[in-house]
Amino acid sequence: MYKKTIEDVLTELNTDRVFGLSEETAQKRQQEYGKNELKKARGVSAWRILLHNINNIIVYILIVAAVLSFSMGEIIEGIAVLIALMIAVLTSFFTEYKAQKSIESLQRMIFTHAKVVRGGVWQEINASKLVPGDLIFIEEGDSVPADARLIRSMNFACIESALTGESDAVEKDALALFSEDTGLGDRINMVFAGTSATRGNAHAVVTSTGMSTEVGKITGMLESGIKERTPLGKEMNKLSKILILVALLAGIAVLTAGFVTNHPIEAILHTALILAVAAIPEAMPAVSTMTLSRGMRTMAEHKALVKHLPAVETLGSTNVICTDKTGTLTENQMTVGRIVLTNDRSYTVEGNGYQPVGNILADERAVDLSDDDRLWDIIAAAVLCSNAVLKKDELEYSVIGDPTEGALVVLGAKAGISRESLHAGGWVRIGEMPFDSARKYMITVYEHGETVHAFIKGAPDVLLAMSLQSREEKERLQDANDHLTEKGLRVLGVGKLNGYSGDGSRVSIVSYLDRVDLFGIVGITDPPRNDVREAIGICQQAGIQVKMITGDDPKTASIIAREIGLREAKAAITGKELDLAAGTPEFGDLVKKTAVFARVSPENKMQIVDALRKEGSVVAMTGDGVNDAPALKSADIGVAMGIRGTEVAKEASDMILTDDRFYTIVDAVREGRVIFSNIKKYVSFLFSCNMVEIITIFLSVSFLKPLPILPLHILFLNLVIDIAPAMALAYEPAEANIMKAPPRSTHSGLINKRFLGRILFSGAVLGLSSFLIFNFFLTQNTSLLYVQTATFTFMVLAQLLHVLNIRKENGFGLTTLIRENKVLVGAVSLSLLLQIMVIYVPFMQQTIGTTPLTADTWAVILLAAFATTGVVYAIKKVMRRIYPSE
Ligand code: ATP
Repeated sequence: MYKKTIEDVLTELNTDRVFGLSEETAQKRQQEYGKNELKKARGVSAWRILLHNINNIIVYILIVAAVLSFSMGEIIEGIAVLIALMIAVLTSFFTEYKAQKSIESLQRMIFTHAKVVRGGVWQEINASKLVPGDLIFIEEGDSVPADARLIRSMNFACIESALTGESDAVEKDALALFSEDTGLGDRINMVFAGTSATRGNAHAVVTSTGMSTEVGKITGMLESGIKERTPLGKEMNKLSKILILVALLAGIAVLTAGFVTNHPIEAILHTALILAVAAIPEAMPAVSTMTLSRGMRTMAEHKALVKHLPAVETLGSTNVICTDKTGTLTENQMTVGRIVLTNDRSYTVEGNGYQPVGNILADERAVDLSDDDRLWDIIAAAVLCSNAVLKKDELEYSVIGDPTEGALVVLGAKAGISRESLHAGGWVRIGEMPFDSARKYMITVYEHGETVHAFIKGAPDVLLAMSLQSREEKERLQDANDHLTEKGLRVLGVGKLNGYSGDGSRVSIVSYLDRVDLFGIVGITDPPRNDVREAIGICQQAGIQVKMITGDDPKTASIIAREIGLREAKAAITGKELDLAAGTPEFGDLVKKTAVFARVSPENKMQIVDALRKEGSVVAMTGDGVNDAPALKSADIGVAMGIRGTEVAKEASDMILTDDRFYTIVDAVREGRVIFSNIKKYVSFLFSCNMVEIITIFLSVSFLKPLPILPLHILFLNLVIDIAPAMALAYEPAEANIMKAPPRSTHSGLINKRFLGRILFSGAVLGLSSFLIFNFFLTQNTSLLYVQTATFTFMVLAQLLHVLNIRKENGFGLTTLIRENKVLVGAVSLSLLLQIMVIYVPFMQQTIGTTPLTADTWAVILLAAFATTGVVYAIKKVMRRIYPSE
């Protein structure tokens, strides 16, 4: 297609350069050509996940145990071990499979948008719906959605490194023509799917889609692999290994004690074996995946799309959030409130939001624009130098495009000046240099009759530095600017380029020193979002530093910072000051202590992220533009704006905010913390329950007692009684103080002193009391089976009550249980019911080995279980005193 003229391409694809395809034709073509998608996200097959779960040390140990049980003639035990094996494999398989599916469905929510004209109407659609012949519009920050031939380009460049390996942006030109074969990288009249636009804008006609695109041809069919375990997953794995070791050691210890004390060798041998099997954490690795993917879904419901599992846990340890101001901290409903002209006349503009109603007042009287040429000039220039469109749906007005420009277009509407009326009056746009957050200004070029005019708007300090105004005029404008920024307004200078003579097809990036004729400045209000103050307060309590990083003026930024309660230990610093300090030894400290960074460039964002990470912080950083991509990538959590953000920023990020709100980030961090805390609870429950059995049996064997519980009791406890409550802990809601403690240190993982101490102490207390209960019943003149049934039942009750201690970091989770975690209520009830069945249903009595208990026995074990739980609670309180901060 690159060798054909635009007209030939349009004819061949049977499309129109103004109206595009009709909706009907597009639908027909979609059936013919299929969706515009690369067939790569086929996901991981269920078989591969199953195999991955079978190839596991836990599985091997259980197979050995089953073989040993069968060979010792213990058929029921052998079967029980096989059931344990099935549980181990199936729980991890199902949780991983489900997690994989939910990640895939969440990833499907993140799709590329394309701006297309169908039947003469511009609209934004899912890029998968594009077909050959569609007329598309691509601008800075967009991902190119399909291979397409340019039909009009303005200062347009693309990064094609994904396709060609060339890292510099490629200048594109719709008018270029080739007569000979040319390499992909040189076909500058084409754009290619999978690349992105870094500058300017262009219209193009889609030539191929999906697997027929250049990137489709080289991609082929890929199947995504099984992901690396997350850091937390790795730690859980480590923990499982420790537990396996503990299990083996416990087995050996019981075996040795049995030998020394002359216990019947066979009974001891398989008690040791079953103890080892019981201590193995069958479902533990799976639960971390399950909890994380559940968290991912909850976050998505709360408008934060997290792209991969590790990000969920990183969010929980975030201790610095770097956020931009406009639209994230503020409403992004911009309104021009003040106008100050170079001739020192100033005006107030009435009205709020995008409703184009309100007068322009001078000295409190509405002005007539026909009597005020300079005012007309500045408003017309602002409108001509904008691309945003004001739209009215039913009663509401909204803006498509940049909200800053929206404010200018609304100002125009209040003054009766619209781009359409100006175009109708002979103003024809022939060129444009789009706004860029590094340059901080924008230029549009117009033809009006015989003459060419170039309008410019941008940050006042940048325009004043290039302005041809006299020193006095400059000082006056600077004062006016200071006055407006001190009120927290966002200020924009508007003017024109003196003596501009280019033809507009390519507005070059040269310095316009002494050529900018400033008409004046406009002050735009953009109030902070009403929930931001609260969110900042939450962060401050949670030990999370918030830093505002904005392209806006330092004074405006400081005022907004004060309004939202952002504490500044150091005054705001600018990007230029950062550049000067970069490389000095104090740089890290300066960045750490500063809360407001203003007039920053995208490179400054990188410097800030790097410095903070070097200091050991876990940094979440927001961004929306193309230039933000490197900073988003190098932050621990890159956060892109779903509404305002460019496709490039979304691609580079780890999380996308579908509502662009700062509060959503704080919410996601909170969810990350909840997830981590629930995993900790789950692990600590399973760990301590396993300890109980090991300690009780070890003590009994060492003190020359019979076995306190039977091997099948052990299996039943671990595989039936404990599993459901443990899994239900993943459904625990946030504890009240979850955002009142500092972020967890990145160095202290899951296993810290307090955590281990708690497990050991509670395991010891529960184990010791089981041993005492066992001894108590031994003195009661009943059968050994009765004593073992009583001890077994005590262990069940004590462990189920122990869940309540585990539920709350620093309290007892009984009163809030029904309200907060119904899944856990169900799980505990189910476990209790099963235990009652084991004691009273004859078939189960025979299989597991139990006998019915009297009411008196129930009373004793219930009382003892509550007393033990009380002791564990007391120990928990003491431990918190000793290690308050972990
Ligand atoms: P944040 O980084 O918090 O979103 P911001 O939106 O104010 O801040 P930029 O978009 O980089 O940052 O804007 C920096 C400055 O450039 C603004 O203060 C304003 O003066 C000017 N500016 C913003 N938008 C435009 C635009 N569309 N055209 C011309 N100048 C603009």
